[in-house]
Formats: sequence, structure tokens, C-alpha cells
Amino acid sequence: MRAFDPHIHMTSRTTDDYQAMAAAGIEAVLEPAFWLGQPRTHVGTFEDYFLSLLGWERFRANQFGIRHFCALGLNPKEANDPHVAEGVLALLPRYLEKDGVLAVGEIGYDEVTDAEEDALVEQLALAKQFGLPVLVHTPHRDKKRGTEHTIALLRECGFPPEWSLIDHNTEETLPLVLDAGCWAGHSIYPNTKMDEARMVTLVQRYGHERILINSAADWGVSDPLKVPKAVAAMLAAGISESVIETIVWRNPIAFFAQSGRLGDFEHAAVDQRQVWEGNSVLRGQAPRVDV
Ligand SMILES: [Zn+2]
Repeated sequence: MRAFDPHIHMTSRTTDDYQAMAAAGIEAVLEPAFWLGQPRTHVGTFEDYFLSLLGWERFRANQFGIRHFCALGLNPKEANDPHVAEGVLALLPRYLEKDGVLAVGEIGYDEVTDAEEDALVEQLALAKQFGLPVLVHTPHRDKKRGTEHTIALLRECGFPPEWSLIDHNTEETLPLVLDAGCWAGHSIYPNTKMDEARMVTLVQRYGHERILINSAADWGVSDPLKVPKAVAAMLAAGISESVIETIVWRNPIAFFAQSGRLGDFEHAAVDQRQVWEGNSVLRGQAPRVDV
């Protein structure tokens, strides 16, 4: 079954991952901007990161037949760093207007600080200004309170719930997010957050409306095949193909199409003869051409 992973950090992944993802049916991904493990000390490094999400990473994904989109924003963790936060927020408008940017994200609360809230409020205003939906991270600790805070702030800012994808949900937060009228993302992780079996139970209970699944794979212990693995678990549990396809394909498309930038949604044509800034990903391997 074809799938769209709406939250994955491919910059941290390998070409083996891209190959395995394409073979498992992943046809599109959305890569939100986030923190890189190592704290950044200059605003300029954010700018180059945004450019690589828009350029090199999109090229790399295309080389393996996967459409690559991104969300740009100041992540919650670095919103707390006064050396970069203000500069990144000032830089964002120049990048939010670019093609392939389908949302502002990931933004939200992490430790639920004042600085995170300021950055969140400012980026919700930017999202409104650019007509973009938002991808909202929720804290790992005290998730329920953090999610309630997030929903309350979206309301306070008058941000449309249908333009809000609140991520990393659990059994505790999903009903709150659905009741608020927002879309609900679920990050299927090897050990924490959410797993395939629990996801099956959630779908059996809550259905498919406004529900999404992602791998949130990054530089840590994570698995870029978690969306197809969740598909397999749902099929094995007897959930209908049409419900599953809505969750892993139609819902992410419907959500991000609200940006007006998704365009005609087609397969990425593979042409590995192409180069990016003079570079290919092949390292001497014969190019695959499949256009
Ligand atoms: Zn993430």
C-alpha cells in the first residue's frame, strides 16, 4: 500500500533507508525542521539547514522515487536559546514563501517555557500570514498538560484547528486533540511514544478521521519503516484497506493540501543521471532511470 510519512528527518538517514522506504511503499515524506542534537551557535547555520531541506534533501529523495516536502520553523528546543531564536524568526518569512514548504514546523512546547510560548505565538502569526498549516510538537514529559496548553494557546491565538496537526499523541492526548477539531499525528517508535499494537487499538476505537501516523525517524533510535509496519499491523488486525489508506495516504495529503502548494500529486520520476550542484548520490553505481 502506498504511504506518506508526514514527519521524518531524512537529513539524518542514509540512502539505504530511502531504498527500503521506497520498496515498502513510501511515495512521499514531509521533513519538518528541528534540532540537530548539537546546539547551533549561529543563525546562518539555520539558513543553510533550511536550504538543504529545500534543495539537496529533496534531490536525494527524488533519486529514490520519493517526493520530499518540508515544514520550516524554529523548533521548541532552540526557541530557548536567546543567541539564535530572534534571528531565526526574522529569517523565516524569506523561506516560508518557497515552493515545497507545506507547513510551519515543527513548533510547539518542549519544556513549556515563556521563550517557547513567544516563539510559538510568533510562528502561528507567520503561518496565518503565509496561509500555511502548522505541525506542532508536544512535550515528552507531562504530555497531557503540554497538549492542553497547546490547544488553549491555538484557541487564544484564533488559529484554525483544522490547520493544526498536533503530533506525538498517546492514548491520553488523542481524545483531547480530536475534540479540539485538530488533526492528530502519532509517532511510532521502537521503544517509546507509540507502537504498532497500541496504534491498532486507537484506530479501532477512534477510526480514521483526522488521524495520521509517522515514524519521526531521526538521528536517534528510530525506524523509517514504521509507517509501513503500522500498515501491516492494521491489516493483520482486520482493519479495512480503505481506512488504512485514509490514515497513511489521504489524510496527510488532505492536511498539507491546505497550503495550496501540493499541486498535482504524482509519483516522483527517478532519473539518477541528474546531479545536484555537480554531485550525484551514486558513487560509481550505474544510474537507474525510470521516468
Ligand atoms: Zn521531529
